[in-house]
Order: sequence, then structure tokens, then C-alpha cells
Amino acid sequence: MALVNLYSDTQTRPTEAMRAAMAAAEVGDEQRREDPTVLVLEARVAELLGHEAAVFLPSGTMCNELAIRVHIRPGGDEILLGANTHPLRSEAGGPAVLSGAVMTVVGGADARFAPAELEAAIAAHPPGDRYAPRPRLVCVEQPTNLAGGRIWPEQQVRDVLDVARTHGLRTHLDGARLLNAVVASGTSAAAYASGFDTAWIDFTKGLGAPVGACLAGSRELVDEVWRYKQMLGGAMRQAGIIAAAGVYALDYHVERLADDHARAGRLAAGLAELGGVEMDPASVETNIVIFTVPDAAAFCAALEAEGVRMGALDARRVRAVTHLDVDDAGIGRALDAARAALAG
Ligand SMILES: *Cc1c(COP(=O)(O)O)cnc(C)c1O
Repeated sequence: MALVNLYSDTQTRPTEAMRAAMAAAEVGDEQRREDPTVLVLEARVAELLGHEAAVFLPSGTMCNELAIRVHIRPGGDEILLGANTHPLRSEAGGPAVLSGAVMTVVGGADARFAPAELEAAIAAHPPGDRYAPRPRLVCVEQPTNLAGGRIWPEQQVRDVLDVARTHGLRTHLDGARLLNAVVASGTSAAAYASGFDTAWIDFTKGLGAPVGACLAGSRELVDEVWRYKQMLGGAMRQAGIIAAAGVYALDYHVERLADDHARAGRLAAGLAELGGVEMDPASVETNIVIFTVPDAAAFCAALEAEGVRMGALDARRVRAVTHLDVDDAGIGRALDAARAALAG
């Protein structure tokens, strides 16, 4: 029987229709701005996120790293960001290496910090204090990833942006799964993203494309990003082949994210009823389900033997992510396997 792969929404494979769109894509030399499909995708994302311009990049990690590179100045600049967010956990120390940035966590484990918590972090390193790093950039991860797919309420985003602006700080939105938050909340992508200096979405998570992400901002900032895109080898050639998957995903894979959310809710409700599982199903707002079991590694190994894959985050926490390659029957099989694993 096929694997029920809840390890991550990055595990999606392009559908036949997406592959057909890729095969038929018009292409040109991307780094000379002559790939028509890339230009279409960039214009779509700029408009979607309420920004002037956008640039297609190979990955979301590169979106974060290049945005950080253009915001951070040499000389001890500081990034203020939520706990366990992607630049801290999963970018190989890039902000320190590529930009010379100090990273400081704001708020608690939830990763959605309050405006007052940001105020306090800024106040701890006041301007003119030559001992302290200089607060420069505020990053928001919307929705959160390792903090469980939680959505920042629109007002909280606005309030955090107000605090940042009051102190003259730059702002960056890691919207790897922004469209999950959009579909789940009904708030538009532009309402969430337009207030940031830079913002991006990933095509390789729930949107189901094989490669690519798009970073938006002002024309001036995007031109500056292009300098580092060239420097780090992110400029491409006939990239329309992969950009076509992004265009296809924006047309056909956004509304369906609601199905992933419904399945994540069903999975969470089922898991919460099992003895040995700790979780609050009400905390599941998008497609990520994080729960606690007595032994995460043993639990995942038992699931794997039943053809169900989830990921252990640490000794007790497990993460399961729904996406377009997991159907209702897959959720049923995952719950059966979880029940058996905990009984055994
Ligand atoms: C996946 C992810 C990234 C990185 O995107 P890649 O395309 O995998 O490089 C950044 N931030 C968040 C929140 C993510 O989930």
C-alpha cells in the first residue's frame, strides 16, 4: 500500500496537470529578464502580496537570506524574530555568515510575539548604546511552522508593524505557507503582507510545486536583492519550466488548501482521543498538527512499519503535515496506525 506521507507538505509531487503546464511553458533567459513565464509569476506574486515588484528564487531559504542581506548593515545589526523560526533553526547560520547579523528571539515558544514583547526587545538595546547590537529588522513567520501552523491575527501583525515602524526598523514576512493562513482565515494575502518591507511565498509547500519561491518588495529593494541573487548563483536560465508550476499552483492549488486544513483538523481530533497523546485540537488552524506522545522516535518507527510517516521534533513531540498527496483514506490509516502504535 502507498505510503501515507505526513512528514511534510514539501513531500508533494507535481501532478500530471502541473507537469503538463511545465512542459508547455514559454521560456527565455531568466537572468536577462527574458523568461516570459517567470515575469508572469513575479507580477502575479507582487500583486497578490500588495507590493511593487517580486523576484523568483530557487527556494524559500534564499528568499529569507537575500532579504536579510539587503536589510542588515555591517556593524552589529540585530534581527528580532520568533522562537524556532526558520532562519534560526534551518538556514545553517546563514544570517550570521552572509549578513553578519545577530539574531534575538522575541517572545515565547509560540513564535507569535506580542507588540509589547517587541517593544521590550527594542528597549533592551536602545539606540546610542554602544554595548548593544543595533535592532534593525523584525521578522514574522506567518503562519508559524515549528510552532504548529498557527496564524498571526491580522491586527497583531499590524500592531507589530506599527512598533517596528515607530522605531525605524525594517520588516520581513516569511510567508512560506502564507496562503494557508489566507485560506484558513479569509484575510487577503495583501492585508497580511503589504505592510512589510519584504514578503515571500513558497511554491514547494502546500502549493505542490517542485521548485521555487517568490520574494516581493519595492522596486528598489527587489533590484538590490537581484545583486545578491546574481552573487550567490540564484540567477537562472530557462526557469519558466519551474515557474510554470508556480503559476499553475496559484491557479489550481490555493482554494484546495481548505481540504488540507479540514484533514488536519480530523487528524488532530482523532489523535486527541487516543490515550497517551497530549494535544489541543483547537490549536490546529492550518495544515500542521503537533502533538506529544511518551516516546516520539518509537511512535514514528511504529507508524513507519504501518506505512505512515510523521516526523519526531524532539524526544516527545511529533509533527504531521497534510497536503495534496494525502486524502481522507490516508487520514484514516494514520489514525489506525497511531492507535496501534500507542496500544503496542
Ligand atoms: C520551508 C520553510 C522555509 C524555507 O523554504 P525552502 O523553500 O524549503 O527553502 C522558510 N520558512 C518557513 C516557515 C518554512 O516552512
